Amino acid sequence: MADLGNYTNTSEVLKKHQFRMQKKYGQNFLIDANILNKIIEAAQITEKDCVLEIGPGIGTMTQYLAEAAGKVIAVEIDRGLIPVLEDTLSSYDNVVVLCEDILKMDLEALSRENGGRPIKVVANLPYYITTPIIMGLFESHIPLASITVMVQSEVAERMRTGPGSKDYGALSLAVQYYARPEIVARVPASCFLPRPNVDSAVVRLTKYEKPPVEAADEAFLFAVIRASFNQRRKTLANGLANAGGINVTRGQVETALDEMGLSKTVRGETLTLEQFTELSNRLLRA
Ligand code: SAM
Repeated sequence: MADLGNYTNTSEVLKKHQFRMQKKYGQNFLIDANILNKIIEAAQITEKDCVLEIGPGIGTMTQYLAEAAGKVIAVEIDRGLIPVLEDTLSSYDNVVVLCEDILKMDLEALSRENGGRPIKVVANLPYYITTPIIMGLFESHIPLASITVMVQSEVAERMRTGPGSKDYGALSLAVQYYARPEIVARVPASCFLPRPNVDSAVVRLTKYEKPPVEAADEAFLFAVIRASFNQRRKTLANGLANAGGINVTRGQVETALDEMGLSKTVRGETLTLEQFTELSNRLLRA
């Protein structure tokens, strides 16, 4: 099968299979070989790797991954794409295609396929579910080496930014708790068929062996972070006292902030990951 990383071969395959793209699944297929090569290079794929690809589409990136990796597990939700993938990937014996919703999959069972060794995730993600996919992967605690994904440019910024930026939020903190984020390529809309309405970027998240901070209770830390950003315009003390599920008083938050040398009227968006961790550890003891 010809290389699908260009407009001509992609539209030929779509025509041959009379495939109609589904907007609801975020289908924007890559048609640029340079970007595809950049993604494979950034993900540092070798033949020792087992790669999980989320949303193979018509198999464009899957072809590139199959050339470089030992094994590729590609999870596609759209049943209509399965016969297309059977055709475009027919010459590879190291690819397994599963027709499933990645958000409902048993990721642990999937990681056992690689004998418990860390897998690499590579994907041109469906943008409507970027955050649940990334958080689902991290929170599953399956052995992961890295996640190299195409996302909306603005989301890539949110992942790597810190306090003081308008993009800083719960996603920044969650990603930076688990991984080191880097933007490895900027991708214009012209690299996709059809063109999305937004610019895109490839981000590599290299998983830490151990998070850079020590949270006494990870779930509580994330509950505090989420509550702080849910009520962004309130002071942190008010936001946390009003939030359900955390069970702290305004006084307890103010005391903890005071002990940390922070103002009682500070807002959540000014705290670093280290400060959120210290605050949540103190609140657990309060
Ligand atoms: N990898 C292909 C490429 O780069 O050309 C297609 C990428 S396209 C942006 C996203 C793909 O994810 C589509 O094929 C879509 O059908 C699939 N998808 C959407 N939601 C999904 C889900 N919940 N689970 C698995 N695949 C999904």
